[in-house]
Amino acid sequence: MIRVLLVDDDALVRSGLRMMLTGAESVEVVGEAADGREVLGAVDLHRPDVVLMDIRMPQLDGIAATRLLLAQPDPPAVLVLTTFDADELVLRALQAGAAGFLLKDTPPAEIVRAIELVHAGDGMLSPTVTRRLISMVAGDSDAGVRAEHAASDWRRSARASATSPWPSAAARGTPRSPRRCTSPSRPSRAMSPDSSTSSRSTTASRSPCSCRPPASIEESAVPEPLNFLSLLTGSFATPAAENPTVAMVEAAYAHHGIGARYINCDVASEALGDAVRGARAMGWVGFNCSLPHKVAVVEHLDGLGESASVIGAVNCVVRREGRYIGENTDGQGFVEALRTVADPTCRSVVIFGAGGAARAVAVETALAGAARITIVNRDRARGAELVALLNEQTPTEAELVVWDGTHAVAEGTDIVVNATSIGLFPDVDARLDFDVETLRAGMVVADIIPNPPRTPLVRDAEERDCTVLDGLGMLVNQGVVGIRHWTGVDVDPTVMRRTVESLFGL
Ligand code: NDP
Repeated sequence: MIRVLLVDDDALVRSGLRMMLTGAESVEVVGEAADGREVLGAVDLHRPDVVLMDIRMPQLDGIAATRLLLAQPDPPAVLVLTTFDADELVLRALQAGAAGFLLKDTPPAEIVRAIELVHAGDGMLSPTVTRRLISMVAGDSDAGVRAEHAASDWRRSARASATSPWPSAAARGTPRSPRRCTSPSRPSRAMSPDSSTSSRSTTASRSPCSCRPPASIEESAVPEPLNFLSLLTGSFATPAAENPTVAMVEAAYAHHGIGARYINCDVASEALGDAVRGARAMGWVGFNCSLPHKVAVVEHLDGLGESASVIGAVNCVVRREGRYIGENTDGQGFVEALRTVADPTCRSVVIFGAGGAARAVAVETALAGAARITIVNRDRARGAELVALLNEQTPTEAELVVWDGTHAVAEGTDIVVNATSIGLFPDVDARLDFDVETLRAGMVVADIIPNPPRTPLVRDAEERDCTVLDGLGMLVNQGVVGIRHWTGVDVDPTVMRRTVESLFGL
């Protein structure tokens, strides 16, 4: 029997997989973990031969967890099983040492066969992924055909050797794995204003879209063309006028036919409690919080998700079973954007700022494997608090530099991040007080200011041949995670990126 550990943050997906694998003769599920952080402990406890690893998890993602696990003596094989099929993710999973990469819609028999193969020491990619990679690498027209033959052979072999079908949908429940929607659809307006996000009844029969429709949108008795209620989401911040999130999120809603609105609200600090009560009264399914409410909002909520409680700040509130729960998606959004230009693993990172955004960026960068993080902040106490958090709750070594004069970026620094509000509209010419000559060619320089994206720091770094990341990548990625929380739909980030780029004339 091949001993298998299931790692996925979604309990329903884990139970669906467990039920499916229970029928297989060659495989035994010996344990489960709900986050990348739990993997090492679960492997120690259950001694699996193969780990079925999800990628996106709240604290430590599956790729970082794979890297950590495979650095241990005598590790099990890792088979990544995910809904996300981006080429970059496949490459990163393989670079981390995963023996295989499968999509969650792979038929059960093929999953069992893949487990057998990686246990036998072979590599395994799902046929779709194989086809794309071969085409990408070979760049010739026969590659796809050859891969298609390989895929058919694989399917035949899987059918012949694996015995376990998925249990019936009724028996296994409906796994809540987000699916990327590939086709725009007609807006579905049918919904109930007081529907809870825990409700999973949907409008599947109406939508021509191939993805699972928004989980929080319920069928209403009102015929669709005559139902004018929208699912309500939005943002509370001040200032708010410069924030382009509304345009980006509504572009995604329109593209995917999600019957929802995003309302950008300028909310003063003293009005925050009333704003949250108003959102409750109107049945909003969630909202973003930005400057200066990310910490203050906590006292108006009913609980915190794991990311927000570690980071100590909330940028995304989600209604679950009628309760407002604070989440933090900023850091995940930043690290996903960072990974498009550099892997933070084992890197030395300097972060300017120690506010809400800096905390999120620092914690997630640390959890993504950064070796050292230097926090440069004006306010000593705020900076020291963040450094203590990093040293106590992440494996990274962190130190504080109090920012009381022109800062010189230390030699050996790989990544520099501006996580202060310096450069934000309308103060667009404001510069960080640091010696730009200490930026060196090849360094990665990231500015999280989304408006304008081309900040003085971005321009200075480009002139010095640094690899530059603007604030739009983070903005888009945290938006994708927020929409997933509110609606259950995993939207296409390119639609959102194109929208904000066109707004800024990029
Ligand atoms: P906070 O108010 O919580 O923190 C602001 C930080 O900036 C503090 O560390 C503060 O230092 C520092 N700071 C501000 N002005 C100066 C200055 N003149 N000199 C030195 N340090 C300064 O804000 P947030 O962390 O919530 O937001 C910071 C920025 O991040 C905002 O501009 C926001 O737009 C951006 N952001 C971008 C996102 C994206 O998706 N791209 C997502 C989230 C935020 P001190 O502690 O000393 O006061």
